[in-house]
Amino acid sequence: SGDFLEQLKFKGGKLVREQEHVHAINGIDIDIRRGEALCVVGESGCGKSTVARTVMGLLSPSKGEIHYDGQRIDHLSAKELLPFRRRMQMIFQNPYASLNPRMTIQQTLEEPIRLHHPDWSKERVRDQVRDVMDSVGIDPDWGSRFGHEFSGGQRQRIAIARALAVDPEFIVADEPISALDVSIQAQVLNLMMEAQQQRNLTYLFITHDLAVVEHFGTRVAVMYLGMVCEIAPTGTLFAKPRHPYTQALLSAIPRLEDDRPQHIRLQGEVPTPVNLPPGCVFHGRCPHANERCRQEVPALIDVEGGARVACHGVEEGRL
Ligand code: SF4
Ligand code: MG
Repeated sequence: SGDFLEQLKFKGGKLVREQEHVHAINGIDIDIRRGEALCVVGESGCGKSTVARTVMGLLSPSKGEIHYDGQRIDHLSAKELLPFRRRMQMIFQNPYASLNPRMTIQQTLEEPIRLHHPDWSKERVRDQVRDVMDSVGIDPDWGSRFGHEFSGGQRQRIAIARALAVDPEFIVADEPISALDVSIQAQVLNLMMEAQQQRNLTYLFITHDLAVVEHFGTRVAVMYLGMVCEIAPTGTLFAKPRHPYTQALLSAIPRLEDDRPQHIRLQGEVPTPVNLPPGCVFHGRCPHANERCRQEVPALIDVEGGARVACHGVEEGRL
């Protein structure tokens, strides 16, 4: 907590430096499996973007390790990281900030290809750009246009095309549809799912939207205040949420069926990450907290259905 990440962003046609608060994460132990879409869900400030950026190497962990395909990558130099950079790409939330307004779409899409394939001929690069534009539903003849000539949804398609242009295997997407009009969110989500099938992609998908998770996720990790409370296959999590925080989150989704538990209203406010409570970080808001919860940090334990839950109540069999 209290860390700031300096980010370069385009604002009003200018490249500016912006400081963004980074939410601390603690004791996160997750594996992402080839071919899956692991959704990380939680309220704003829970640290899910920090997880995304740490996995991508944009932030380095003060403790802990990141492994990619069996190799430790968190301590590599920029040069050593380059081959991994091609294999893992990132899609950001805001397609307005992430496309350089001074570059044509052609230039925008050529840039990563030239970086990772310096030996490719001009023709091969151009063909790759046309292919990838076509695959995201942008007319390949529009390469000479600039970002501002496109709608938000089209810009996010172009951002997806830029990520796909170097044929990655793993994509980290940080709230890729939440800045878009609701009417086009589903189209962009479907595009990402099609791309996953056609290209055998693995996703780490950050979102605060449980409807997206249910539609898109193979597995779900639920975060609260920098911790993973529960990680489970999507079907298991929605059928049988175990952690009290997950139960409260899910109970807030409107449902047609009547057999759902009543909306669970959480007491209190989310504590600030600067001054974390001892024990389970959720204890101040949990209806099932006891003395142990106030003192001891719960570890993730395996429960049925392929789920892992960090909760003393579940471990003690009283929840
Ligand atoms: Fe609630 Fe205790 Fe479980 Fe935390 S560990 S979620 S306070 S029951
Ligand atoms: Mg975020």
